[in-house]
Amino acid sequence: MDVADELLANNRLYANPLADQHVDLRPRRALAIVTCMDSRLNVFEALGLEEGDAHVLRNAGGVITDDMIRSLAISQRLLETREVMLIHHTDCGMQKLSDDGFRAELQADTGVAPEFAIESFTDLDAAVRQSILRVQGSVFLPHRDRVRGFVYDVDTHRLREVS
Ligand code: ZN
Repeated sequence: MDVADELLANNRLYANPLADQHVDLRPRRALAIVTCMDSRLNVFEALGLEEGDAHVLRNAGGVITDDMIRSLAISQRLLETREVMLIHHTDCGMQKLSDDGFRAELQADTGVAPEFAIESFTDLDAAVRQSILRVQGSVFLPHRDRVRGFVYDVDTHRLREVS
């Protein structure tokens, strides 16, 4: 039995009381959040958000890649978000590998070097600042004046702003 089977049962319980409650496609708070895929970061709970409030875009590290820019462009141009929050976190997996090391490992195991950048980092604040700069520098995003970056501490569960 897969975990997915258990989740399917959970979903039936979740869906029953919510039947036919439609929420608008455009996020109510006109906000997009970019963050890491880390399983300890429960974005909606940690920030007091509700369903329909914000877009939450995630990848390993919460890195601003071309695909994140693609999603942000759709979020802003089509779905009217105006503000961007970037959230990295302590004890991130991306601090535990190196670009060259992971690239070599992938190539050694598969015979193919990946086309994508690994985007590991050591300094959390520097990584957040780089993400802010990448968002602010993207011509595809019409709204770049309200971009703020944060570090979420997975032990204290508090957010700290990076200036
Ligand atoms: Zn992470």
